[in-house]
Amino acid sequence: MDTRVVGIDPHNIDHQQLKRAGALIRDGGLVAFPTETVYGLGANGLDADAVGRIFEAKGRPPDNPLILHISCAGELDRLVKEVPQRALTLMDRFWPGPLTLIFKKSYLVPETVTAGLDTVAIRMPSHPIAMNLIKYAGVPVAAPSANISGKPSPTRAAHVIRDLSGRVDMIIDGGDVTVGLESTVAEVTGEEVVILRPGGITLEQIREVARDVALDPAIEGDILRGVPKAPGMKYTHYSPEADVIIIEGHTQRVVAAIERMAQQLQEQGKRVGIMATEQTEALYRHGLVISVGDREDPSTIAAGLFAALREFDALGIDVILAEGIEQKGVGLAVMNRLLKAAAYHVIKA
Ligand code: AMP
Ligand code: MG
Repeated sequence: MDTRVVGIDPHNIDHQQLKRAGALIRDGGLVAFPTETVYGLGANGLDADAVGRIFEAKGRPPDNPLILHISCAGELDRLVKEVPQRALTLMDRFWPGPLTLIFKKSYLVPETVTAGLDTVAIRMPSHPIAMNLIKYAGVPVAAPSANISGKPSPTRAAHVIRDLSGRVDMIIDGGDVTVGLESTVAEVTGEEVVILRPGGITLEQIREVARDVALDPAIEGDILRGVPKAPGMKYTHYSPEADVIIIEGHTQRVVAAIERMAQQLQEQGKRVGIMATEQTEALYRHGLVISVGDREDPSTIAAGLFAALREFDALGIDVILAEGIEQKGVGLAVMNRLLKAAAYHVIKA
């Protein structure tokens, strides 16, 4: 399949181009496009065949449901059975933006989208290209991240081109995304708001507007990590080719431990990458160092994380030693992704 790459400036949108892309989606094609979180791979969310093509192109397991993207709140009603009050409150505050809500689905939503579940995930993205593309498609757009399943999510068009060239009809290059991590996923069908996946909207932000907010026990488990999990089994997610090891603890000790490990690994002939931060990058003498962002501002680390993982792969690195950060604010989502990339391989300094 020929993949067309189309550049569109998010600040000066070529609406004719986007209309053509929208029509392509409506007619059953696959179009990758930027959102504020990561690049998405979009198809007509009401067309089961088109949605099936997303799973094929990504190599995505069919039991992992997709998010439907809409461009106005009015689209919601025909896709869901009911809109609970707590959902309205969250939509009011965070839509458009990186928050996905889980509703009871209506008969209109194909089973391929929801992987057979009776619930559907819906989000309204804020990126101007995404918004206009969905509007021009005239249908809800099913869109997972535009990467080969298991790889780090794409935060710039070059990542999408590397993974999906020849597998999709069109890739819209709209520059680097801003958030850099996927949306927060929250269930709103029960008595409380349950966060199933941490993301661009933080737990703290949600608690500001909603009562009874809980983290899914699986995320709690990730934070506590009382029981070591079998590496690489259930959790091949966000994984670069290189092995990832997270080193956690007091920053000074973390740096010392990483230095020691980098030296040892290099002596064994391994190519070592160090995922550092602005505060620490100058302290390393061994390994190839990439600073992902500012320790004091986890949103900068979110924005740089996936690109750094892909960069280490491009450089042929064997082992990535990554500094852990505090699991607060967006740091919770950053560490959630990093832990999966590392298959839960964590060392306490
Ligand atoms: P992705 O679009 O690749 O970032 O993945 C979408 C995320 O939303 C995955 O973690 C899905 O498991 C989750 N998701 C989608 N639909 C549902 C649903 N109906 N119930 C719970 N989680 C969902
Ligand atoms: Mg994904």
